[in-house]
Amino acid sequence: MNRSLLSKDKDPMGKAIADFYSNGRADLLRVFSSQFEEDEIPVKQLFRTISQMPGIEQKSLQMAKGRILDVGAGSGCHSLALQDMGKEVLAIDISPLSVETMQSRGVHQVRQINLFDESFCDTFDTILMLMNGSGIVGRLENLPMFFRCMKRLLRPGGSILMDSSDLRYIFEEEDGSFSIDLAAKYYGEVDFQMQYKKIKGEPFDWLYIDFQTLSFYAAENGFHAELIMEGEHYDYLAQLTIIN
Ligand code: SAH
Repeated sequence: MNRSLLSKDKDPMGKAIADFYSNGRADLLRVFSSQFEEDEIPVKQLFRTISQMPGIEQKSLQMAKGRILDVGAGSGCHSLALQDMGKEVLAIDISPLSVETMQSRGVHQVRQINLFDESFCDTFDTILMLMNGSGIVGRLENLPMFFRCMKRLLRPGGSILMDSSDLRYIFEEEDGSFSIDLAAKYYGEVDFQMQYKKIKGEPFDWLYIDFQTLSFYAAENGFHAELIMEGEHYDYLAQLTIIN
């Protein structure tokens, strides 16, 4: 499990965010993976306003209450929307350049911290993990540690709002059957590496998780998972609450 922070020379997404913020445009933010073809993240999308957000994200912003933690806040798009709604939010990110940009954009409470840093001992009523927020967990085997960490950060009656996608559509055959190798690792465990201009980040694990698997792990670790809303393409919003 990765508990570290990024440095500026290995922070491609943060650099893209900082460039877009200062120049109104950015170069290609390239994404590599051993499992997929090269792809890119449209940097402008990281600056989406509430009306440009998918329904799942709008719903989670409405549901967020009390003191809110925006995990992996990026450009701060959700934190700024929450502030506009009069809500109290702390934005955290491991990316130094994203944190600087959020400060410049007017996010009131920002910290460069890793969600899994054991010295992070604040508490929250809502923990927001958006834009495939399950990704930060990295791998299925990290879920018990993730839920332990969430128990420490959640106030009584609090909850996690997390979105994810079921990647099964990638393995779906034309006849509706699935070509998933059950002996292989879970199909939602992927690796990514990003590059912006000459800045290349370290490779990292990213977890896409289907709702059923998430519910199973949640129950094993003292949480209840509720399916709040399904998106347009195998994506969904889940609410996770502590049951014991
Ligand atoms: N939530 C934003 C950005 C999503 S990209 C949006 O929806 O636009 C994921 C972000 O999570 C990146 O900014 C990355 O730096 C951050 N991140 C990754 N691992 C993290 C961790 N362990 N703790 C905190 N932030 C993390």
